[in-house]
Amino acid sequence: MFDLVIKNGQLVIADQVVRADIAVNGEIIAAIGMGLNGKEEYDAEGKLVLPGVIDAHTHMSLHVGGNTSSDDFFTGTRAAAYGGVTTIIDFTLGSPERTIPQDIEIRLEEAVPSVIDYAFHSEVLGWKPGQEDQFLQAVEKGVTSFKFYTSYAATGRRSESGTLYHAFQALAELGALAIIHAEDEHLIESIVETMGPEDKARMSSLAYARPPLCEGSAVDQVAFFAEQTGARVHIVHVSSGLGVERIQYAMEKGIQISGETCPQYLLLARDVYEREEGHLFSASPALRTRVDQEYLWDALNMGILTSVVTDHCPFTSGQKKWKGSFLDLPYGLPGVETLLPLVYSEGVNKNRISLPTLSKILSEQTARTFDLYPRKGVLMVGSDADIVVFDPEKEWRISADALHMNVDFSPYEEMKVKGSVEKTFSRGKLIIDSGSFLGEKGRGSFLKRNL
Ligand code: MN
Ligand code: MN
Repeated sequence: MFDLVIKNGQLVIADQVVRADIAVNGEIIAAIGMGLNGKEEYDAEGKLVLPGVIDAHTHMSLHVGGNTSSDDFFTGTRAAAYGGVTTIIDFTLGSPERTIPQDIEIRLEEAVPSVIDYAFHSEVLGWKPGQEDQFLQAVEKGVTSFKFYTSYAATGRRSESGTLYHAFQALAELGALAIIHAEDEHLIESIVETMGPEDKARMSSLAYARPPLCEGSAVDQVAFFAEQTGARVHIVHVSSGLGVERIQYAMEKGIQISGETCPQYLLLARDVYEREEGHLFSASPALRTRVDQEYLWDALNMGILTSVVTDHCPFTSGQKKWKGSFLDLPYGLPGVETLLPLVYSEGVNKNRISLPTLSKILSEQTARTFDLYPRKGVLMVGSDADIVVFDPEKEWRISADALHMNVDFSPYEEMKVKGSVEKTFSRGKLIIDSGSFLGEKGRGSFLKRNL
């Protein structure tokens, strides 16, 4: 007799979809088979049973440029749970005044209210050659991925080539992962310099100020240093066909490079900037074109991009108030709660990806990239019982009012979705049941990752 059995569901396991029961003892998946019995049982007839989603790119309580993203670790992870996300990887907030291990200690305090499990990427900010020991100390604390930016000089986050090269050398020695926001800001600056006041007063200029050219150029630079140092690199929020092409080119040369994209780049295009509320879509990279969207879906199917994550970084419409220039906005979109339903509805239902691919790009491959596999990301005996029961038939319309993120708009407002999270289990505990939150503030654990 198991503690818990989810019966008769369609389980997505590797390349197959199989009808089976799945049993849990304590916090761990204990058995997968037929005719299993539990003290607690749920019937999942007609439902999909998926591994919990891993959103490896969120920004809860992000303090940047005088603003703070509007979800904290409690509201953000509760919303995540509503959307079938059972693990997030957020970021430390780097500072030239602190060491990387100190950043981790501070962020650990902030993340305590999380309702689901969480890990961190360490933001590398103000790091200098000679401080290589900080990377090892971070790894010893369970942080195995390090975030670099090739843009955002204004907030001190931009790493120049010397920093990238020396840091990659150190990370290669450890076997740790470098993750990169890849946009060539020198190019962006040169384009913005050519813009007059009228251009800056148009929201649509964002897309012209940060074109795919910038992404391609930065991917090439990062890939070159990865090649020279032997570091593993992962490009975050890949937005363009050109970005995909440069990653593919590097992969073909044998460079250890991977990439992720986000629902906003798969589903939205830059024409939204023409709308009256277009400024609410401020994000970097900027939104692209429908042709770029096709490249991104293809890249997911071809394994050039391995994950879909959200870059969840909500700002309210008040925080995003239009002040007369596209340069004068916080960049970031909400999305942690709508990740699974949107990628299912627009991906699987529209035959852009298969059901096993959905599960790979939202769970398994993300776990593998970020050293969480096989504890997370799969329905397998011995793995954490992070399980989503998903109703593939339920139709609904996205409305910010009905969602749980701490933000007053959704970029996908009124979009029709087919497919809805019915139950979310986090380490064996039912935390979402048909729209009710049964989780607990602070139950989430910090996931110490090992290389
Ligand atoms: Mn970014
Ligand atoms: Mn981000």
